[in-house]
Parts: sequence; C-alpha cells; structure tokens
Amino acid sequence: MRLRFHGGLDFFLKGASIGSSVERELKEPTSVKDAIESCGVPHPEVDRILANGGPVNFAYVLRENIDIDAYPVGFRETSLPGEPLQRRRITRFVVDGHLGKLARNLRFLGLDTAYDSQLHDPQLLQIMISDARALLTRDRRLLMHRIVSDGYCPRSDNSTEQTFEVLRRFDLSSDLKPFTRCIECNALLETVDKAAVLDELEPLTRIYYHEFRRCTGCGKIFWRGSHYSKLEGFLERVRDELTE
Ligand SMILES: [Zn+2]
Repeated sequence: MRLRFHGGLDFFLKGASIGSSVERELKEPTSVKDAIESCGVPHPEVDRILANGGPVNFAYVLRENIDIDAYPVGFRETSLPGEPLQRRRITRFVVDGHLGKLARNLRFLGLDTAYDSQLHDPQLLQIMISDARALLTRDRRLLMHRIVSDGYCPRSDNSTEQTFEVLRRFDLSSDLKPFTRCIECNALLETVDKAAVLDELEPLTRIYYHEFRRCTGCGKIFWRGSHYSKLEGFLERVRDELTE
C-alpha cells in the first residue's frame, strides 16, 4: 500500500518516510483514517482522500494494498472528486496553552476564542465538545484524538503567520469583527460614554481620546490609541493577506 500526502501534509510525516510518500504492508483490514494517522498525519488536517483514484471518507476500510492520496483543505479543491471531509467557516475556537499570542490575535479579530494557559489536554477537549469549538494546537497526538472533529495545527512558529493560517484554513475572511471582543478574557466589548469612564483614565488619555469600549466580562477599558495601536498595524496585514 502506498500513501501519498499532498499540499504540505508531509509536514506531519515521521522520520522513515521518503518525500511525501509512505509504503506500508497491510496486515489486516484497517480504516483509511487509522492508516493515515499511523503515518503521523492527524485526521482533522485531511480534507479529501482518494483510494485508487476514487473519493472515500475516513471510515472506508482498506482490505488490500492500494494507493491512497490525502489532501489538505485548500489544495486543488475544485479539481478533486468527492466532497470535502472538513468544515469551513467555524468561528469558535479553543486554543492550546502554548499558543497565547494566536489566541489574542483571534479575539482581537472578533473570533470567539477560549484560552487559558493553565488548561490541560482533557479540559481542552471538554471545552471543544461542550462549546462546539475547533481545536487549535501544535500537539499532533491531541489533534488525533478520536473525539476531535474540527481542528488545526499551525505550522509556523510566528503568531502572526499562525493567525493567517487559521483564517485561511477556516475561510474566515468575511467573518471578522475587529475591536469587538476583549483580548484578555474573550467577552464582548460595549461602547461607553467618555463621561462614564473619565475617572478611570490617565490625564493624557482624557485629552486625546474620545471613543471608549469596556469589556462586559473583566471591565477593562479599551481605546484605539493605546492598546490597539500595534493591533491596527496587524489588522492592515490581515486585510492585505486575505485580499491577495
Ligand atoms: Zn475582558
């Protein structure tokens, strides 16, 4: 049996593989999902599977040595047969404790993002299921957990690049609402009158800024000049990236 991994999925292959192809001897009937994950590629990363050229889903059972081709989301989508195996347009996430900057970026863009650096794997999975969130983690073993249906492993080490990857993977260019969610606690922001927050502002802020938002969760006050100045530049990059 030969498994070929296209469109960068070879990122996940374990050491012994050559290029993007893995040779395996099939000893007993195995689901194509298990065969793919035995090569190191988590199932949420695979959007199309072809068995001897024909489209199959994860439950398809391999009984003889055939050729398997696996493709990620976004790769030659219109030219491949069959239906996608992964969902797009998911706007709710739970983010692994190692990806704090990514979580803040997603919140800033208005995406509902559960994150707490103290959470352990079982809690991440619990939140993923109970809130119907997609799991973002670089722990590929966790991503392979059988209960994960929607998830993604950011390839880059850089949080800005990771953000672009997530926006592309879940096709979110028309679902962004920047400046609407607290980057600290994920609650929604509400517009407040300057008079209502005047006592909480530094003297220069009182002079130079007139529009304020307050977090409905933690009460933190935001205005564009301070907390958001770096994020404004980030937003420009997001817009450039998504219109390319
Ligand atoms: Zn907050």
